[in-house]
Formats: sequence, structure tokens, C-alpha cells
Amino acid sequence: MGSFKLGGMTFGSLFKKPETVLYPLETKTPPAGLKGHIVNDVDRCILCGICQKTCPCHAITVEKKARTWAIDPFRCVQCGSCARACPKACLSMDPAYTPVATSEYVRVLEVPDQKAAAAE
Ligand code: SF4
Ligand code: SF4
Repeated sequence: MGSFKLGGMTFGSLFKKPETVLYPLETKTPPAGLKGHIVNDVDRCILCGICQKTCPCHAITVEKKARTWAIDPFRCVQCGSCARACPKACLSMDPAYTPVATSEYVRVLEVPDQKAAAAE
């Protein structure tokens, strides 16, 4: 890019609205194709652990005995491997911005025991 064009862009940006916003007070419309973050429809989860084995970042922990499915959003890189591998198709990428956090956390979801509920 020539220095003349670059200078023109710099000068032009002085009179344009900034591209940045005061997130999270302001948000922009998510761009098409935003991967967002992983959500789990736990009613369909069978705690098979395939997502945990598939995740290259060790972001998912499945505890079969405790019936919990957990994700560390600070490890997840939104690659989508877990969603593609899930045999029950209960994982998906929510195309929305990840909620704001002031400290690291792990999101733990309780997985209902569908068999026990059906037997009652
Ligand atoms: S792969 Fe799907 S069904 Fe298996 S534990 Fe993960 S979320 Fe649940
Ligand atoms: S999207 Fe990728 S990094 Fe994130 S939890 Fe799934 S497999 Fe792991």
C-alpha cells in the first residue's frame, strides 16, 4: 500500500465514527459466521465423554458419577470439534458474544438422569 493511500486513510479516519465500541455497555451486531461459544442441551447428553476426549484444549470435563458436564470457557478456542463429535448432537455453537466475566470460572451443568425420570 502506498504511503499516499495510507495517509489518506489516516486522515479520513479523523472524521469517521470509531470502529470500536464500549463493550459490554455497547455491542455490535455479531458478524456472520461468529462461532460464539459452546452450549449444551443437557437433556440430550448421555455423558459419553466423547467431547472431552475430542477437545484439543482440555476445556471439557465430564463426570459420569456426579452427572455433570463442565466447560472452561477460558480454555475453549471455539474450534467446534466437540460439537461435530457429539453423538447426540446436543452441543452447538451459539453465535453470540461470550458473556463478560471479571474472573476465570468453569461452567458446570447438571445432566438430568432421563432413565431414572422415566422409571418414576
Ligand atoms: S459428546 Fe455429547 S453426549 Fe457425549 S458427553 Fe459430550 S455433550 Fe454429552
Ligand atoms: S469448541 Fe473446541 S476448544 Fe472449545 S470445547 Fe469444543 S473442542 Fe474444546
